[in-house]
Amino acid sequence: MKIWICPGSFDPVTKGHIDIISRAGVMCDKLIVAVGENKFKKSVFTAEERVDFIRRSLNGLKNVEVESFHGLLIDYAREKKAICIVKGLRAVSDFEYEMQMAFLNKRMDEEIETVFLMTNINYSFLSSSAVKELALHGGPIEGLIPDAIIDDVRKKFFK
Ligand code: ADP
Repeated sequence: MKIWICPGSFDPVTKGHIDIISRAGVMCDKLIVAVGENKFKKSVFTAEERVDFIRRSLNGLKNVEVESFHGLLIDYAREKKAICIVKGLRAVSDFEYEMQMAFLNKRMDEEIETVFLMTNINYSFLSSSAVKELALHGGPIEGLIPDAIIDDVRKKFFK
């Protein structure tokens, strides 16, 4: 069974993430979406909320599981017996950071590959940070994140 991992902070999940998850899902037997904690970047949504948002946005994708994880991604990937880490690339600006991570992960486990999927052109401008910025100022977030989570994301900023 070919298990792949799609890691990220997903704070919150966007349609760009869902596009990458759907496309990666058909390339493997099981895709684990792994919601991580970034110790240097405080997230707006809790890990539980972020996992729940992704689960509610999957629209029947059968071979996709969502979990949160702590610690090193490569240790988590090994524990899950994953053969591949899949990431989305939006622009050259993503590339440098992602290349560094891919080399570091390869150095720790040369059997686990990193695969990159190019963003869907419609979502190339889209990031979780942009969504949060818009939501904070009451801007339109429809079409940027899955419909199922729009109310919850808005609520977070206007309690
Ligand atoms: P963000 O940069 O939005 O905070 P994450 O840390 O949650 O994203 O990213 C998880 C993965 O999803 C990364 O590989 C990132 O490049 C990718 N990704 C994020 N937004 C998009 C998008 N709009 N299109 C394609 N890939 C994306």
